[in-house]
Amino acid sequence: MDFSISPELEALRVRVREFIADEVMPLETRPDSYNEYENIKLDLVASMREKARAAGLWAPQMPVERGGLGLPITGWAVIYEEAARSIFGPVILNCNAPDDGNMSVLNKVLPDDAMKDKWLQPIIDGKVRSSFVMTEPHPGSGSDPGGMMLTKAERKNDRYVINGRKWFISGAAVATHFILMARTSDDPRHGLSAFLFHRDDPGWRIVRRIENMGPDEHGGVCELEFDGLEIPIEHRLLEEGDGLRITQIRLGPARLTHCMRWTGMAKRCLEIANAYVNERYAFGQKLIERESVRMMLGDVAHQIQIGKLLTMHAAWKLEQGDKAQKEVSMAKIHVAEVLHKAADTGIQLCGAKGYSTDTLLEWMYRYARCARLVDGASEVHKMVLARHYGKLGNDFWGWGG
Ligand SMILES: Cc1cc2nc3c(=O)[nH]c(=O)nc-3n(C[C@H](O)[C@H](O)[C@H](O)COP(=O)(O)OP(=O)(O)OC[C@H]3O[C@@H](n4cnc5c(N)ncnc54)[C@H](O)[C@@H]3O)c2cc1C
Repeated sequence: MDFSISPELEALRVRVREFIADEVMPLETRPDSYNEYENIKLDLVASMREKARAAGLWAPQMPVERGGLGLPITGWAVIYEEAARSIFGPVILNCNAPDDGNMSVLNKVLPDDAMKDKWLQPIIDGKVRSSFVMTEPHPGSGSDPGGMMLTKAERKNDRYVINGRKWFISGAAVATHFILMARTSDDPRHGLSAFLFHRDDPGWRIVRRIENMGPDEHGGVCELEFDGLEIPIEHRLLEEGDGLRITQIRLGPARLTHCMRWTGMAKRCLEIANAYVNERYAFGQKLIERESVRMMLGDVAHQIQIGKLLTMHAAWKLEQGDKAQKEVSMAKIHVAEVLHKAADTGIQLCGAKGYSTDTLLEWMYRYARCARLVDGASEVHKMVLARHYGKLGNDFWGWGG
């Protein structure tokens, strides 16, 4: 078993690390970098993206022939983690959610170059942003899209007509390209289908941008209403009834790329706390000299390493062509907890300063709370794991399987 990474990947990791430290992290402390939703301003993103592209660090997950770095999924893990040392890093390298998950699924399922040129390339080039439209308000579907989705896509000749309501759609207020899940039949396994639509298509609207506790993604999380949106049959992804399959193709890697970024963010929390306890004195000693403080740092450090290993194992399995369902679920549950714990421990160790906006810890703490909900609540992933354990017994922990 070889845990080393190639010299080329290590060299790229170091270049990303330097770019983030030299070019991106200085922006975090400048108030004029932020928009009203506590994220980096879009005009600043545009100019920083040019720098990332010029530095050869653009879209690590996309094929070289489409302008990315063509890394395998284990390579994404290494690079995303470095990028997410800064809260602005992933969007500047074009490996942020939800675009990266949308790019991955479109790259896999679009049938030909013409469709990829139209729907995928502008996202890779950073010319447009995208959204994944699945979750619905009550009584529609949240954790159980297959069973409960109410948004309907009715076939009328060579078109589908969409009616329904969605919410918590990340990025919708700035997105141009949308991937939509809707019900095409009552079949419990093949009742959903996936479609593409464009922001300018008539028959839908953004009802509101939902206020929430976190610093917001660009375009926020939005509630959408569909009232007769017409989608031509060529804009259906795969076959009718393949919606859940598309969801799995998208969410496996997309959940894992969250883990990659969250690991980078958890490391940053610890880095901030470590710097503080190494210079701050209380009762005649530096805080770092107290064993209880070192225990807190050591506790988070080892939890981060467990998360890295779970993430890398799942990435490796995805690379082998496995769906890696249970490995992705385990990584997602664990890393979501670790991110929260790292931010919380960071605040505790930095005392009042940690609670203030003088460090990024409070930003990351508020952001971290959504990690246990997005792309499947932790309880749902545990349910999935119990299902696998029920089928596999002790083979759950098998080496190859
Ligand atoms: C910041 C943010 C961004 C998001 N972005 C998107 C997006 O871009 N596109 C999109 O489609 N959706 C998005 N979502 C929605 C997200 O995917 C859902 O919140 C998630 O799937 C859970 O669905 P729900 O919120 O409807 O929870 P519900 O299904 O209402 O469940 C509520 C709670 O019940 C518990 N629960 C549910 N099922 C089980 C079970 N089987 N066993 C035990 N307990 C259970 C869990 O604790 C869960 O948190 C986003 C959400 C947030 C917070």
